[in-house]
Amino acid sequence: SKVRIYTLAKELGVDNHKMLEILDGLGVSYKSVSSTIEEDTVELIKQIVEEEGAAVTGGGSEPDQAARTEPEQAPVEVQAAVQSGTVLSGTLEPAPGQLPVEGRATEAQPRPSEVAVQEVSAAAAQEIPHRAPVVTIMGHVDHGKTSLLDYIRKTKVAAKEAGGITQHVGAFEAKTSKGRIVFIDTPGHEAFTTIRARGANVADIAIIVIAADDSLMPQTREAIAHAQAAKVPMIIAINKIDLAQADPEKVKTDLTQLNLVPEEYGGDLIVVPVSARSGEGVEDLLEYISLTAELEDLRADPKGQFSGVVIEGKVDKQAGVLATVMVQEGTLHVGDFLVVGENYGKIKAMTDSGGARIKEAGPSTPVQILGFSDVPTSGDKVQSAKNEHAAREVIAQRASDRRDEEDARQRRKAQRSLEDILGPLGQVRTVNLILRADTQGSVEAIQGILARKETDDVKLNVMFAGIGAPTEGDVLLASTAEAEILCFSVTPSGAVTKIAETKGVEVKSYRIIYELIDEVDRLIKGNIEPVF
Ligand code: GDP
Repeated sequence: SKVRIYTLAKELGVDNHKMLEILDGLGVSYKSVSSTIEEDTVELIKQIVEEEGAAVTGGGSEPDQAARTEPEQAPVEVQAAVQSGTVLSGTLEPAPGQLPVEGRATEAQPRPSEVAVQEVSAAAAQEIPHRAPVVTIMGHVDHGKTSLLDYIRKTKVAAKEAGGITQHVGAFEAKTSKGRIVFIDTPGHEAFTTIRARGANVADIAIIVIAADDSLMPQTREAIAHAQAAKVPMIIAINKIDLAQADPEKVKTDLTQLNLVPEEYGGDLIVVPVSARSGEGVEDLLEYISLTAELEDLRADPKGQFSGVVIEGKVDKQAGVLATVMVQEGTLHVGDFLVVGENYGKIKAMTDSGGARIKEAGPSTPVQILGFSDVPTSGDKVQSAKNEHAAREVIAQRASDRRDEEDARQRRKAQRSLEDILGPLGQVRTVNLILRADTQGSVEAIQGILARKETDDVKLNVMFAGIGAPTEGDVLLASTAEAEILCFSVTPSGAVTKIAETKGVEVKSYRIIYELIDEVDRLIKGNIEPVF
């Protein structure tokens, strides 16, 4: 019978990555690790894994043994040729100079059972340890984002932490059988886009929650557009499957209309039915998150230069300014100097997301920091400095970079180069658009016309099409993707217009469809005919 790839990998005790490499080597096609493979192929793979196991461990049958190679040994000694011509080498224990830092950061070290397939020349990259995935939950209002986060927090955060006053710090860490998963605790795409709009990327995976009794709604489509624009892998959680009127099949067919094809329909979209109320399916969802993370091969060096991003900041009446920072690279220590924006502070105290005092924090750890004098903004990038003097220097550098950037932006505005207009020679240019209209009918009519406007040289990419006036989220999406927002029979609010102005995003409103189409024509021409 057919077997799913990850099931087979688990059964044989090999890494999913390695399993895919073996399949590639055999020329077997698959969509993802949850695709199924034929029985004949399964037999073949079992043989290969057996032979390799023998080659790596010198006859040992425990796959775990493969990783327990002496660090001093040259990787060559643990290599075994794989059919594809790549080379299998056991992931070495951290080299002497690469000892894990004590405490929490240790978790980020490679799991001992890990055996990775790689080109020999890439061996150096292998030394950077894996890190936990950072996940964001997005979706339409009332579809169950908060409930899902609550359920995971209730069941997956150590009792001691969850039991106390669950203080909201903007992120929490769930402990699962597959390791740590960090959740951004502000549901909805506002947090996601605000952070991204400031040039930072925090989330590695986006969970799009869709209620099984409601299917795709405007904010679902927005959330999907945001995840796609950020190129963040998506997992669909069809929620509320406990309801009698739940219709998960409808959700799946509706998704295919957006060209998002669930795996069981032959696509590569992972769709997991869940109930945030009963908890059904949540375990599967967490597994799929770990699986996706593994395939994304997320790594960060706890020994490297520190960098992080502000998740949120607030003023506490007693404590003062508190900021939650996600450690992305390196390790934070109490006493470190941090630079955020053009301010700096010294870490007086740090707590983890469960409220426990900690002295240091490694990659993919959200920490609440006491020591800033000003409240930092979500999405601000954080750097560290050796001392106050170095911190001031970083700030001076940042201020000068910012002025240079502003100058450069002004210059770019004044004289668009030929390449700006044509794109790199010979390449297809893409015009990114966000469409807003009064009814679903007009949205579809406009999209229909636009689809026929594309040429060989210019692609029209409607990143998001929605009913109703454009939102702040649209502007943020447009600003990161350099898109123009076109409105038909709807107009932006004053607040949205203002944000669009500060972000340099064009928002144009039309009452007559053909005027809107003229604008699209102009955008297309602008992309093929240089204007001097
Ligand atoms: P959010 O706006 O997406 O954060 O949605 P909430 O988590 O606030 O949920 C909206 C409503 O749906 C609440 O009344 C929840 O109790 C309910 N709800 C959430 N998840 C489920 C579920 O799995 N099953 C059922 N029956 N109700 C749910």
